Amino acid sequence: MSEGSGEIAAALVGVARGFHARGWLLGTSGNLSALVQREPLRIAMSPSGVDKGELRAEQVLSIDEHARILGPKGGKPSDESLLHIRIVKERGAGAVLHTHSVWNTILSDVYARDGGIKIEGYEMLKGLQGVRTHEHAEWLPIIENSQDMPALANTIGETLNKHKAAHGFLLRRHGLYSWGENLAEAKRHIEIFEFLLETIGRILHIRGQMI
Ligand SMILES: [Zn+2]
Repeated sequence: MSEGSGEIAAALVGVARGFHARGWLLGTSGNLSALVQREPLRIAMSPSGVDKGELRAEQVLSIDEHARILGPKGGKPSDESLLHIRIVKERGAGAVLHTHSVWNTILSDVYARDGGIKIEGYEMLKGLQGVRTHEHAEWLPIIENSQDMPALANTIGETLNKHKAAHGFLLRRHGLYSWGENLAEAKRHIEIFEFLLETIGRILHIRGQMI
């Protein structure tokens, strides 16, 4: 990372450690990115195969729009870099965050047949950018998981175009993606969704409706 992006890398490390401590990025799961420059596109991206609780700023990579590493640094960017790049382009996002929590994994499967989860009536929804009332109905789409990243990036692009108001989406039996204008907003969105998904999951469980 060049100067200026060092601060971005340090901020990503802070978010990674916080999410890891909450159990949302266990092992080497999940990934984080933040925009360094839009034209030409340059993104600070977490590396592949690194424990997110032990991520260091110097391990954060700088990549271009084809997920190629920029600069002399070795390493491998996250396998899901193409997904981050697609979200940055589709949504004009300044940061993209992806977590693998227990609750987002469970609900991404439980609601898969509905194609998404409708979340409404919760005060915490007001933490999503542009939402002013708990009466807001948020549709969180669920996309079938795949290891074919170019194909999955295209499916994500289509889903984001279809659901223009969505603040995030789930990959089935895999995890949650959310983003924001900047890293602080993306972090807030993940916290809001993780809270809401755990709440919904616990309610289903208490009612005995979990399959
Ligand atoms: Zn993942």
